[in-house]
Amino acid sequence: MAYRYLFGPVCSRRLGVSLGVDLVPLKTCTFNCVYCECGRTTSLTGERREYVPTGQVIAEIDGYLATIPDLDYVTFAGSGEPTLHSGIGEIISFIKDRYPRYRVAVLTNGALLGDPDVSTALMRADLVIPSLDAVSEEIFQEINRPCPGLTAGDVLEGLTTFAREFEGEIWLEVFIVPGQNDTEEEILRLRDAIAAIGPDRIQVNTLDRPGAEIWVRPASPLALERIAAVLCGDAEVIGAVCMDRALPPKTGEATDLLLATIRRRPCTIDDLVGTLGLRPAEISKYLRVLEAEGRIEQVKEKRGIFYRAV
Ligand code: SF4
Repeated sequence: MAYRYLFGPVCSRRLGVSLGVDLVPLKTCTFNCVYCECGRTTSLTGERREYVPTGQVIAEIDGYLATIPDLDYVTFAGSGEPTLHSGIGEIISFIKDRYPRYRVAVLTNGALLGDPDVSTALMRADLVIPSLDAVSEEIFQEINRPCPGLTAGDVLEGLTTFAREFEGEIWLEVFIVPGQNDTEEEILRLRDAIAAIGPDRIQVNTLDRPGAEIWVRPASPLALERIAAVLCGDAEVIGAVCMDRALPPKTGEATDLLLATIRRRPCTIDDLVGTLGLRPAEISKYLRVLEAEGRIEQVKEKRGIFYRAV
């Protein structure tokens, strides 16, 4: 069966075997991070609504979990910010009521955690992985490029309040962009903010595959270790990007893999998600590259848009 809103399962370094749930169209987000592996945000918004039908997402999850798959997590992540979907609470509750054996994780940029509707919606998750890249307003604006009205102070306050109320685990992620948030002053501000939040784990991350802006470079392993030590004695360096970083292929390998698959038979994005275990957002990005290079073309068929080798 082809799924529209599920992807994977992928084998993630952090989450084990994880089934992805993607609740927003590519690329809908409250942020437009310079390092985003899904490319630039095309729909920069803070508006919560039912971006995809809640009932259809639940039906897909129900159909999948009814087969009792061996999973470590059902993870909300994908083409943007999952908490923008107004039905996320209902979907999490469905999983916990019907399939309590499965743990639920939510990957979020944390921008909306100060909204009581969002924090209530996430209360039944087992794990929330928010990101916090900057405390200073200027650096927050430079790295995360939020939708109008979001400030670093509001985001931090929302995250701190949520952490006090949430009974599950919080793993906080800090993404280091050299030249932006790696100054001593900003790292010390982040350290103090993290102390107030009190997450269960802290993970320090940097660019692992192409980001939205070509000038973004990864921090060195040594720099990451140094920053992790300042942030907290227990901080881990994970060195891969936001959302689910399970997927090992680098750009070249991924495009080769996609091309080899498409050469065998034309595929839709859904086919490729099922075959390769990559996220829809990543597949779209690589397909755009191959198309721009004239190596594949689109063909519109009844079942959707197919990609075939030229
Ligand atoms: S990295 Fe995450 S928060 Fe930032 S733009 Fe991409 S999806 Fe949104």
